[in-house]
Amino acid sequence: MRVLVTGGAGFIGSAVCRSLALQKGAEVINVDKLTYAANPSSLAPIQGLKSYLFEQQDICDREAMDFVFNSYRPDAIIHLAAESHVDRSITGPAAFIGTNIVGTYTLLEAARKYYEGLSVPGRKRFRFIHVSTDEVYGSLGPADYFREETPYRPSSPYSASKAASDHLALAWFKTYGLPVIVSNCSNNYGPFQFPEKLIPLTILNAIERKPLPVYGDGRNVRDWLHVEDHAAGLITLLFEGKPGEKYNFGGDSERSNLDVVTQICDVVDRLYPGPAARRSMITFVPDRPGHDIRYAIDASKAHRELGWRPTRTFEQGLAETVAWYLKSRAWWERARSGVYDGSRLGLLATQ
Ligand code: NAD
Repeated sequence: MRVLVTGGAGFIGSAVCRSLALQKGAEVINVDKLTYAANPSSLAPIQGLKSYLFEQQDICDREAMDFVFNSYRPDAIIHLAAESHVDRSITGPAAFIGTNIVGTYTLLEAARKYYEGLSVPGRKRFRFIHVSTDEVYGSLGPADYFREETPYRPSSPYSASKAASDHLALAWFKTYGLPVIVSNCSNNYGPFQFPEKLIPLTILNAIERKPLPVYGDGRNVRDWLHVEDHAAGLITLLFEGKPGEKYNFGGDSERSNLDVVTQICDVVDRLYPGPAARRSMITFVPDRPGHDIRYAIDASKAHRELGWRPTRTFEQGLAETVAWYLKSRAWWERARSGVYDGSRLGLLATQ
């Protein structure tokens, strides 16, 4: 099987590329513009494989997308390319409208033209997996869960742009019959995540004994899923997902931001002891505008219909992740070098 992955040099995309090439024996064509969030060294384990190809392209460029489809003739596409950082969407929404909305539209149109030219068996096999977030659903009260039919109420420019792209993707199924499947997932964590997001930023600051910023009172709740479990779910969609349907993925691991930061302190203290407990470095900072209180996923449809489940608890995954950042200094020093410095720009992250 030959899979076109967009955004494959990013955090989740690189996990999808590694898993497709190494575990599934698939051919992978990675199309990525290489923005600040990309890190080609996350693909080191598959670089050099005959089954892995890279194309530096912008998904907003229609001619380039036609070229990619016609040259590589993929059996399916997993679309992850996006601007993904909420705080950046607040200070500079234009790139989010461009890539997340116009880029997705451009890709859908290129995919539609390609799909219409496929043979009947090729069409039967073809899938367009559109990867999205639970943030499209907005904020939850204490006792509810996001289900696939939960109405969209996005709060940030990021989530609004993702919501728009989800609607476009499903409209291309309803109107043109393009076999689109939409996935909405909770916050991901794990190795190779750019250190502007909450977990890697906190781990690195804890390693370097820098202040550990927490928005507001730290009581905002997110559900966390290990990136490799998410990648496995997306790949399952290629075979088991039903065109025109939405699937929620989540880790059944709701934690407040303060809990997450506190747990990271304790794991870093255990694996990399220092003179003082890291918890003492937690610093509360003014809240993000429009900060949603709680996200929580009901992933029972994915459990039932795809046979998919997360394979690790949050505690196991977090300990593995801290251990990975401790042994991967070269990777994160490169990611942090010059291009982006979260502490200098005063940006935080809760995804
Ligand atoms: P990321 O920011 O780590 O990576 C995004 C990748 O897309 C980068 O490699 C970047 O270079 C590429 N890209 C950006 N604009 C592009 C363009 N115009 N053309 C081609 N490539 C472009 O993001 P991520 O965290 O890996 O998220 C991937 C997808 O999953 C996004 O669609 C995001 O909305 C969704 N998602 C993320 C999370 C999460 O917790 N990170 C959770 C749910 C859903």
